[in-house]
Amino acid sequence: MAANVSLQSQVEELKALDQKHYLHPATSPKKHAEQGPKIIFSGGNGITVRDPNGKSYIDGVSMLWNVNLGHGRKELADAASEQMMKIAYSSSFAGYSNEPAIRLAEKLASLTPGNLNTVFYTSGGSESNDTAFKLARFYWQMQNQPKKKKIISLKQGYHGVTIAAGTATTLTGFHKFAGTHIGDVYHAKPHLTRCELGDKDDPDYKGCIRDIVEKEGPETVAAVILEPVQGSGGVYIPPEGYLKAVRQLCDEYHILFIADEVICGFGRTGRMFGVDHWGVIPDIMCVAKGITSGYVPLGGVLLNQAIHQTLVQYDQVLAHGFTYSGHPTACAVALKTLEILERDQVVAHVKRMEKELNAGLNYLEKKHRIVTKTRNIGLMGAFELYADPDNDTPFDPSLKAGLDVVEECFQRGLLLRALGAADGKNVVAIAPPLIIDKSEIGRMIDIIDDAIHAFETKIG
Ligand code: PLP
Repeated sequence: MAANVSLQSQVEELKALDQKHYLHPATSPKKHAEQGPKIIFSGGNGITVRDPNGKSYIDGVSMLWNVNLGHGRKELADAASEQMMKIAYSSSFAGYSNEPAIRLAEKLASLTPGNLNTVFYTSGGSESNDTAFKLARFYWQMQNQPKKKKIISLKQGYHGVTIAAGTATTLTGFHKFAGTHIGDVYHAKPHLTRCELGDKDDPDYKGCIRDIVEKEGPETVAAVILEPVQGSGGVYIPPEGYLKAVRQLCDEYHILFIADEVICGFGRTGRMFGVDHWGVIPDIMCVAKGITSGYVPLGGVLLNQAIHQTLVQYDQVLAHGFTYSGHPTACAVALKTLEILERDQVVAHVKRMEKELNAGLNYLEKKHRIVTKTRNIGLMGAFELYADPDNDTPFDPSLKAGLDVVEECFQRGLLLRALGAADGKNVVAIAPPLIIDKSEIGRMIDIIDDAIHAFETKIG
């Protein structure tokens, strides 16, 4: 009894301190100041995490699509601690280097498709995308084409929140937040294969990538950036042929193709990289998240040989870099993460689990009239909630259908994420750790089943 009281008072103390001193991302400061943290995580193991009272939750979105190998992996903790004991940190500026960063660079070159052979390290996805934009512009300057500066991203895309990446991000709220933008960024309608192949009779032509390139002039466009599978925008899988069409368009107009593999990379979709599904090789690839399975922050920008060769031809300093570019601890953890991915054949496991998740989502769609548009590629999936799916009638926004179902799941011990609420959509994302097994997927689906049932009962 006494132990429980002291545990409760500790939790209350933490909540109060959090409310007072801690400003949270993607959270309403007002609500947070009133209500405090929703949960304080105190531990995790495999696909589950727990709160200080010992209640456990299935981590149904791998936290932020990043804890791909699950929680409590001693091997990853050991890799970090061994490296930390060798050296706290080492700079990578002015040609300084360290062994884990070098070994990881070689490993990434061997895992990525084509000749994406050179990496620039960052601390996460937003930094990777900002870096990619700068390097794309730098490349065109080196190529004597300084007017090639414009960046085209896709609507529904999420590329992070630093000012350049945040400008490429189109999600309501994130894009407009604080009025912070850079110029020269354009947003194209996503996933229109016919139009990107040049079919001017396509009724959707206006506003596709090709249309923007033609209107702005290819001599002003530096790069197109896209997520092979859109994640935070709503888990949208492109139609067959789309990525190839964009690749062709970029080749035709001499535009760099940047693949934002921050979520898709390292097995999430059942292939090592998202682009591998469609046999497309980008010129620049941005990675983060799964590269360390979330244990420590790390990101990277992979450049193809042609870009790298251009940069090495000129004696100009690359005046860009982060203190933590190539942090030895982060690189050591990444090396261990990639070793485990290969050793345990995690990507093949994801491919097998893709079928199980698909079957579970189909079951939910058959059972509940309000569930529709279920989809998954590997262990990246979603379902949508509609008042009348047959006529695409959305729920009244005041019902907050997606958020409500996610809350019902939370009450039952499953963490999921509702996407698109700001745009009146009710998409629920599912992206569990890649090590999840068949029975654990079954448990997740049972909880979602109950949660949807509870929502249906509420709305009558
Ligand atoms: N790109 C994509 C596709 C992402 O999903 C995210 C984060 O969710 C980012 C970039 C930004 O990464 P970070 O939050 O590490 O800056």
